[in-house]
Amino acid sequence: MKITFLGTSHGYAEKGRFTSATLIEVGENYYLLDAGAPIEYLFVNNDKPYENLRGIFLTHMHNDHVGSLSSVVEPMLRYRFNDKATCFFPSRQGMDGFANWLYTLDVKKEVLDKTVKFELVNEGKIFDDGKVCVYARRNLHKGVGGASFGYIFEAEGKRVFFTGDMSQEFSEYCEYVGSEHYDLVVCEGAHSPIVRAAEKLKGTNTDRMIINHVYFESVEGFDDVAKTLPFPCEIAEDMLEIIL
Ligand SMILES: [Zn+2]
Ligand SMILES: [Zn+2]
Repeated sequence: MKITFLGTSHGYAEKGRFTSATLIEVGENYYLLDAGAPIEYLFVNNDKPYENLRGIFLTHMHNDHVGSLSSVVEPMLRYRFNDKATCFFPSRQGMDGFANWLYTLDVKKEVLDKTVKFELVNEGKIFDDGKVCVYARRNLHKGVGGASFGYIFEAEGKRVFFTGDMSQEFSEYCEYVGSEHYDLVVCEGAHSPIVRAAEKLKGTNTDRMIINHVYFESVEGFDDVAKTLPFPCEIAEDMLEIIL
């Protein structure tokens, strides 16, 4: 499993950091977690063919996570044709609203219906294509109609937990991440100062942690916190690649 962090900023882009998007590659298949970064440009610029994309998993309907979704889906309907991908929406309002936005962009309903599949996310196992299993877990991130999810990806004997955005001070963290073992936990880094989250993070049963969705004020003191954690921990940068 190869994970490439396409966008690692918090709610707004920063110099050198796009907003949230992460690419997971298993063999030739691609899976996209959120679409805040300019996906079409990043795929083209990094020689990633659209036809390999099998799943798009949206954590919640905030612009920093979905703002470039039309740059993924609309090209698949036309010149980067792909009818093998499913796009998972955390809410009916998000799914219908996005379809309406595509119609506004001159996409025909019959073309959309025949091409990209849209599905609603529920807790539990939502995807299994024989290479990757994806599980959704609800969190307490606010402001999006109560529908916000993290995702667990299982592939090639490895398990990765992506927390997505959480509540202020990561109030749900311990129960949400639980005691299961992960090869990697990708934890957001914007909604709690890292120094105040340190005690919660310490209890994570993981071989490695990456802090993503980086807000500079929140990660102040990171180096001292990282020394106290019982696993290696680093801050993500755009285009950081991890191979598990
Ligand atoms: Zn966010
Ligand atoms: Zn958010």
